[in-house]
Amino acid sequence: MWEDRGLCFGVCFTIEPGEVSTSHSSTIYFRQLLFFYREGVCMLDLTAISVVDNHCHPILLEQHMSGPQFRQRWTEAKDGSLAEKHLHNSVYYLWTIRQLAQFYGCENTEDAVLAARDSQSGDELLARLVKAANIDALVLDLGYPPPEISYTAEYTAQAAGCRTVSILRVEILMQQLILQYENFDEVIERLAQHIKRAREDGYRGLKSIAAYRTGLNIAEWSKDEAAAVFAKLRPQAVSEGSLRLAHKPLNDYLLHVVFQAAAEQQLPIQFHTGYGDSDTDMRLGNPLQLRDVLERSDYQSMPVVLLHESYPYSQLGAYLAAIYPHVYFDLSYTIPFIDKLEMLAFTRQALSIAPASKLVYSTDGIYMPEMYWLGAVRGRSVLAQVLQEMIEADELDEQQAYHLARLVLHDTAAELYALLP
Ligand SMILES: [Zn+2]
Repeated sequence: MWEDRGLCFGVCFTIEPGEVSTSHSSTIYFRQLLFFYREGVCMLDLTAISVVDNHCHPILLEQHMSGPQFRQRWTEAKDGSLAEKHLHNSVYYLWTIRQLAQFYGCENTEDAVLAARDSQSGDELLARLVKAANIDALVLDLGYPPPEISYTAEYTAQAAGCRTVSILRVEILMQQLILQYENFDEVIERLAQHIKRAREDGYRGLKSIAAYRTGLNIAEWSKDEAAAVFAKLRPQAVSEGSLRLAHKPLNDYLLHVVFQAAAEQQLPIQFHTGYGDSDTDMRLGNPLQLRDVLERSDYQSMPVVLLHESYPYSQLGAYLAAIYPHVYFDLSYTIPFIDKLEMLAFTRQALSIAPASKLVYSTDGIYMPEMYWLGAVRGRSVLAQVLQEMIEADELDEQQAYHLARLVLHDTAAELYALLP
């Protein structure tokens, strides 16, 4: 976020980097005034608050890509025709290209942005963007993209010049153990052991993708029911050498094994909620489906993070963070792929419903370091605008607004993932 104070009609305003012009043309002034608050009021400046990006993914080792490859990274649609035919008509993508053109100092076209990023190595891009975004730490979900084509957490930290910590995706671990052990009791025992020693193995939390495998309505099945699925499933999985675990009694049963061990360790678990790729049944991604898990008294020591602002169930996710002491609500500003007006809406809802000490910032950035940077630009800008509105509405004073911003952008996640200095 970039702040330009008092240049126009004696008023102040905050605009994003892509909206900055050194020639103060009347068009630019007019546009700025459209965003404008009442005379004499300045926007909060959150640029000095470093962020903990509490949910993001590694970037690809290969950063050079073609136009179609680049475009495909900016949509959840699997069918390439959507990116080809429609992405350039999406508001968030037009904004993205304009921001990147400003950052790279090139023409505002996709080709020019691709050429500009192609002229630098992945390490250079990562270092420049992370520095510009003022990122303290990246909390990396190592479950995707596959490790053989991705930066490691250690290398990311070294190249980016920020801290990184890792999150263990439990469904991948469950699949590996099923392939590895023919005895169901052994799978259960090994799974519990892995979770109990997750911290020793370098993980600061867990992540579950139950939402788009079998749904967040995680039920309690008997061991016999789960074992029957295991016995049926395993021979084929072993003969194929791979497994996509999406069998409800087995998934749910093993998730409860994970929850028990995580609760013992007070280990946070992130749940994908809401918006996702095309194999998501959005009805089962509603965070209210987690009720039975959230109600269990023996799981209260397992902090739960509802990812992706549960979009479009944002009010419901924020509500859960407001009533369950162990539930946190993630505000993600690169993915879901939605425009600023929707981001303002979910940020207003979150701050209006839940304490800021239950809200955590993220980008869900993946594949390219630009996604880490864009979310930081967007997140600070949106949060500043919403907090400013709350000051205007006489809900907060400026000092309180800065305190809440610090909680959302940094402090709450730093505590949750043991990232205190
Ligand atoms: Zn993610």
